[in-house]
Amino acid sequence: AVRFERVTKRYGDHTVLDALDLEVGRGERVTLIGPSGSGKTTILRLLMTLERVSDGVIHVDGEPYSHMPGRKPGTLVPASERRLAERRRRIGMVFQQFNLFPHMSVLENVVEAPVHVLGESREEAERTARDLLDLVGLGDKVDARPTRLSGGQQQRVAIARALAMRPGILLLDEVTSALDPELVAEVLDVLRDVARGTDITLLCVTHEMGFARDVSDRILMFDRGRVVESGPASELLESPAHERTRAFLGAVR
Ligand code: ATP
Repeated sequence: AVRFERVTKRYGDHTVLDALDLEVGRGERVTLIGPSGSGKTTILRLLMTLERVSDGVIHVDGEPYSHMPGRKPGTLVPASERRLAERRRRIGMVFQQFNLFPHMSVLENVVEAPVHVLGESREEAERTARDLLDLVGLGDKVDARPTRLSGGQQQRVAIARALAMRPGILLLDEVTSALDPELVAEVLDVLRDVARGTDITLLCVTHEMGFARDVSDRILMFDRGRVVESGPASELLESPAHERTRAFLGAVR
């Protein structure tokens, strides 16, 4: 579903991703691990088109996504801009900071994009939103303001909001890092259910190795913008082949 072909991302003369090749199949669950600054979040931001590649091409569902080959990086022909926007909608992201709309109720937060971006009817969007809020255990909070909720509850609203767009691909960027330790489990439990209950393609950045093991088919270990090691989750976590991976896992455990 997702393919990075020699993708380079630079900020000034700082190369964050260096000719990265990466492939994630449809329905596959992949977790990116590695030290801070190794480029994991950048990969997710490129997929959300929050950033443009410096070089190389990203393909989503077999079509170039980042820019047209042969054109100057970062430029798009108008027709492909439109198609890019369409495909961009099929990708959902949950951030470290929940980014909920504070002036809207929980239900409104979830209903907003399906109505305004996908053009769903209010009735349909509300029905889906209530189902999703039930799924994340917040069926009784539909009328609450996000600011009245705990961080764990807010993050669960953010998960419901992402799922309401029926994404084919879900990106999770350190979704528990901003939470108090006692709130981490409730969010990870919800995400485990989501990962098991759907055929969604999952790309996840986390420092929670237990969670990574539970939800992912494959783990990629990053260092300085390159994949140093990749393998089935339990294999990589239990018997890492690379010294960098061993050192990293030793530090996070
Ligand atoms: P973390 O676990 O800390 O989130 P990461 O592996 O996700 O780390 P990235 O967030 O992808 O790493 O960042 C990779 C590098 O890119 C970092 O050194 C960061 O400082 C740099 N970087 C990210 N965004 C920008 C930007 N807008 N301008 C300049 N440098 C940036």
